[in-house]
Amino acid sequence: MPFTDLAAQYDALRAVIDARIRGVLGHGQFIMGPEVGELERTLGSYVGTKHAIGCASDTDGLLLALMALGVGPGDAVLTTPFTFIATAEVIALLGATPVFVDIDPDTYNLDPGRVEAALLALAERDRRVHPLPSAPATLTPKGVIAVDLYGLPADYDSLRSLCATHGLFLLEDAAQSFGGRLHGRRACSFGDAAVTSFFPAKPLGGYGDGGMVFTDDDALADAMRSIRIHGKGRDKYDNVRIGLNARLDTLQAAIVLAKFEAFPEELAKRQAAAQLYGELLGAEPSLCVPTVPGGYSSAWAQYTVRVGGGRRDVLQGQLRAADIPSAVYYPMPLHLQGAFRHLGYSRGDFPLAELASAEVLSLPFGPYLSEGDLAACALGALRALESP
Ligand SMILES: *Cc1c(COP(=O)(O)O)cnc(C)c1O
Repeated sequence: MPFTDLAAQYDALRAVIDARIRGVLGHGQFIMGPEVGELERTLGSYVGTKHAIGCASDTDGLLLALMALGVGPGDAVLTTPFTFIATAEVIALLGATPVFVDIDPDTYNLDPGRVEAALLALAERDRRVHPLPSAPATLTPKGVIAVDLYGLPADYDSLRSLCATHGLFLLEDAAQSFGGRLHGRRACSFGDAAVTSFFPAKPLGGYGDGGMVFTDDDALADAMRSIRIHGKGRDKYDNVRIGLNARLDTLQAAIVLAKFEAFPEELAKRQAAAQLYGELLGAEPSLCVPTVPGGYSSAWAQYTVRVGGGRRDVLQGQLRAADIPSAVYYPMPLHLQGAFRHLGYSRGDFPLAELASAEVLSLPFGPYLSEGDLAACALGALRALESP
């Protein structure tokens, strides 16, 4: 039993993927070839934003956006501690300070009410209002990075109005949520800019690293297109700002174009797979299946259950013994990571993220796993939970 189903996907899409790869080998424009622009137009129109900018990864896309937004030393960027390191790493890389804010325990996404509290604490420099990093100087709140964890969009109704009120930018880390929706609008369209990832295991993955930034803001788009190619002006030998090499590979663009043809159908299959798991596992009292609030639709990057009572690791061991793979996203919240030790956070600062890290378990999932495979995994989990 595989954890995900990339091999089955290649079996199903082989002809179109191979043809796309041969197309690139034929024209030889490996850097910024025509497939990059084609993918930008295709995904930009799917998402519904004015601009779509291919880049080397979600991490680089976040960096492009933060650089274009002028984030630097002395700035605070508020984000969730319950995410992959990249979300907060890029803030620190630019010399700014990540200010963590705890999650909504039902959705695992940033809790807007706690963002308010963090802003108040920053304004009053009062750690009793909300846990703050031990930064030496006064921090100026610049923006918020929300993450759409496991494919479910964050609470953008609240986050957008909150950011507008406080004059903050809103950046959407949509690495996991391409294809998700909120009130009919697609993920990657909710912030001043949004970034997704084509890492192979994401809902729309390539065969290597890749990503895309989306925005409606012309000036931001111009700056990000320039920073993506060494801060180019008229051309790459006219450099008007400090930039990066953050281009999307032509080959990856071609592969993602091929896979995108099957994406709507795959998304429907992800939805059906999640529904089946929900039917099989929803009544089990010792675990908690994912919640999708009204008006939201998840891209189901992962199917993640919650196992209370300190039983998560035992269950994972029992599943492994039954040849059922599973994964923990993420075993350690970012405020407790060694990389952020300099921020001076401690255990207990964000108890909901800490508890989620101890209780979440993602089950085998993907559009190409059969109903039989999914049912076997669900029954394996139920059987393991019954044993003492
Ligand atoms: C996968 C992931 C990233 C990193 O994406 P890359 O394309 O590998 O840089 C960042 N944030 C989240 C939430 C992710 O899931």
